[in-house]
Amino acid sequence: MSRSADLVVIGGGIHGCAAALFCAKRGLKVILLEKETIARHASGANAGGVRRLGRHLAEVPISVRSMALWHRIGEILDDDTGFSVAPQIKVAETEAELDTLRARVRELNGMGFFHEVILERAELRAHLPAVADHAVGGLAVLDDGFAQPFWTTFAFANQARREGVDIRENHESTRIERKDGAWHVEANGETFVAPKLLNTAGAWGGRLAESLGERAPLEPVAPMMIVTGRLPHFCDAVVGAAGRPLSFKQMPNGTCVIGGGRRGRADAGSGLSEILFPELRRTAETAMSLFPIMRGASIVRSWSGVEGRMPDDIPVIGPSTRHEGLYHAFGYSAHGFQMGPGVGELMAELISTGATQSPIAPFSIGRFAQG
Ligand SMILES: Cc1cc2nc3c(=O)[nH]c(=O)nc-3n(C[C@H](O)[C@H](O)[C@H](O)COP(=O)(O)OP(=O)(O)OC[C@H]3O[C@@H](n4cnc5c(N)ncnc54)[C@H](O)[C@@H]3O)c2cc1C
Repeated sequence: MSRSADLVVIGGGIHGCAAALFCAKRGLKVILLEKETIARHASGANAGGVRRLGRHLAEVPISVRSMALWHRIGEILDDDTGFSVAPQIKVAETEAELDTLRARVRELNGMGFFHEVILERAELRAHLPAVADHAVGGLAVLDDGFAQPFWTTFAFANQARREGVDIRENHESTRIERKDGAWHVEANGETFVAPKLLNTAGAWGGRLAESLGERAPLEPVAPMMIVTGRLPHFCDAVVGAAGRPLSFKQMPNGTCVIGGGRRGRADAGSGLSEILFPELRRTAETAMSLFPIMRGASIVRSWSGVEGRMPDDIPVIGPSTRHEGLYHAFGYSAHGFQMGPGVGELMAELISTGATQSPIAPFSIGRFAQG
């Protein structure tokens, strides 16, 4: 049996669900295929950090666009996402790190962006009273925040369904062909036909692009997370470090959620990932050295998720350079949750009008065409 639409989306993470929603709002008939279940991979396993802070300069305009949507997420989605505004702070542990952060602020200001601000020693302690004595200052975005990853992705999926998107779980696209001006996608014994196709397949996005003849050297990686037992309330911000990987926040119930870059082992074939305990230990040590109170914490849970990393640590976003009607948005390299709403909106603009206001040239899949 075959079903037709204006657009087939492959991948039911936050990017696929957000793009499907915004495309449907623009009047497109959309079918979304997910090989497992909505939010099964990175979009359901992440730390929930909603962060403009410290973005690659090419990502800043899109991240800022996305943040505007986060700040009114309750008007866009009927379901709760758990989004809260909170400062995101990157702690400098040396004067040299603080100087680098100051230079970054000057550069961003020169580009016309003023959301990142320097916190001198006393201001840092006003925001983070429990920070270690050796911390000299920091960089902050005071109105960034965090959300619940699962809730958010489900909220986008539910809203997309309300707008008429046909979401098919347990539908892995197994064969894709372009014929007679349309994409024919086989999944679960059915054929889905549409003039436009969007690849939001996360850690599998590179493989999908390559199956259609476009080079995308994606590496599956497995960022890891820790949750501790409850501690007395000591932190209202989401905290990173300028010189080493960390993402840290204390939840309202007192538990601390710690992650930030140290990786386990990912297997895109099986879709499974594995914790590497020596690396997890280093994450815990970083948290203890920035917050001495953490020395009294116990780890109650840890997990990892499969994510797609590109060699230059920025995603692929935009039209195919090879096929008409094909679009990509994948490879977020462990920081794509915050970008979900903004990229969803811009992909809808691009797919329905042929252009977008957002600067996407640095994200072209064509950057990997040579070598
Ligand atoms: C532990 C961890 C912590 C993180 N912390 C943060 C953070 O704090 N802040 C932040 O901004 N980002 C964070 N990230 C990154 C963020 O989670 C990802 O960048 C983002 O979720 C990517 O979303 P996605 O929709 O592109 O991919 P995914 O959520 O992986 O969705 C892709 C979907 O495509 C499906 N799929 C693949 N192939 C097919 C096929 N052939 N047919 C049908 N379906 C298919 C997959 O099953 C999957 O569900 C973190 C990631 C991890 C793993």
